[in-house]
Amino acid sequence: MDARSILARMRDGHGLTPEQTEWLVAALVGAGDERLGDAQAGAFAMAACIHGLGPGGRVALTTAMRDSGDVLSWDLPGPVLDKHSTGGLGDCVSLVLAPALAACGAFVPMISGRGLGHTGGTLDKLEAIPGLSCDMPTEAFSGLVRCAGCAIAAASADIAPADRRLYAVRDMTGTVESIDLITASILSKKLAGGAQALILDVKTGSGAFMATPAAAKELAQALVQTARGAGLSAGALVTDMNQPLATSLGNALEVMASVECLTGVDGHPRLRDLTKALGGELLVMGGLADAPTDGARMIAGALDSGQAALHFARMVHGMGGPADFVERWRDRLPGAPVIKDVPCGPDSNGLGADGQAGTGQGGTGQGGVYVQSIDGRALGMAVVHLGGGRRTEGGQIDPTVGLSDVVSLGQKLAPGQPLARVHAADPATAARAVAQVQAAIVTGPDPLAATPLVLERID
Ligand code: URA
Repeated sequence: MDARSILARMRDGHGLTPEQTEWLVAALVGAGDERLGDAQAGAFAMAACIHGLGPGGRVALTTAMRDSGDVLSWDLPGPVLDKHSTGGLGDCVSLVLAPALAACGAFVPMISGRGLGHTGGTLDKLEAIPGLSCDMPTEAFSGLVRCAGCAIAAASADIAPADRRLYAVRDMTGTVESIDLITASILSKKLAGGAQALILDVKTGSGAFMATPAAAKELAQALVQTARGAGLSAGALVTDMNQPLATSLGNALEVMASVECLTGVDGHPRLRDLTKALGGELLVMGGLADAPTDGARMIAGALDSGQAALHFARMVHGMGGPADFVERWRDRLPGAPVIKDVPCGPDSNGLGADGQAGTGQGGTGQGGVYVQSIDGRALGMAVVHLGGGRRTEGGQIDPTVGLSDVVSLGQKLAPGQPLARVHAADPATAARAVAQVQAAIVTGPDPLAATPLVLERID
């Protein structure tokens, strides 16, 4: 085999045999008799992006990328379960779900990612906890899964190295947005983590990468079919991301939201509901519950009894965080020096002080107004601009900054009620974030019908 002839076949829209796919993936990491140059790797990504790979080609690419590095295997006294989200705002479900599943008798070895674009990353959130590191050697990761029931780690260089190379090439060649390549990228790492069942949370809406429910459904179906084709039990939920899941965005702030959810504080209903829905599905797949509703009740029980918090505490300590984190999180988490309320201002289309729309004066008016829409991407970018996300690869992030007390869609605002609270490093970035949040959240006089959190179940 040689790269030129395989790439020429792809150029002409022909599918690849599994052997040709394996050869190309080996060549991506230089493991075969030839190493693909950047031009060839870019040509592969572009041809896959333009022509697609087809269901069989997707499975072949996924398994070949999985096998390009280490594949973990587990021998544990319970089902090994995992979850993946396509990324959103205030999405700290992993921090709550992993220990809740562990409290229900499952084991969760979660290989997770850092922030991408306007969305936050699970690893960046956890590393807001002083002393904690997600860069764990495989033995330490395995040991922690065994003793705490869950661990969340960064993919080591030995996990799906072909994805690492291909992802960088896609980033440089405008080929990130390919359902086939996204599917193979996500699943190769998940399969390498060795779980026996996976739930996928595919988000759609203004804060998601998949803007429409139809696009999210297409990705969800590709993920589920490909995972099953690779021998992994999988299901997916298409979920709403037209507003943040927790009412906080930012790394330390989302850890706070997670601990509140884990300890029964009732401030983040969407975070709790989605954790229950995803966990309910997984407990059925793992044979620990008979139906998703039973599984969801088990997750709620784990949160309410404090058992999930106990597993979270063990995980945090095992990853280098404080032993008393769950009891003392308020003292342990770093806070931002500047905290500023976001008034319902002119850009948020609020009624003027005279209660009339369109005065350009802003304010919540005498009778109050309703939250009409939230531009999730803009809200996420406000957090990135505060320093809570990376603007260049490998850049530093500030764990303390972000937004809290973000209003919800359809919420009625009392006169003078802020839209959110900005946590910033200095007054200038705080003022800019205030204006960005005001522009991102639209209010108006009309009540809004509630939209469901789970839009569709794909199985
Ligand atoms: N996350 C991944 O791991 N890969 C992609 O291609 C997109 C999101």
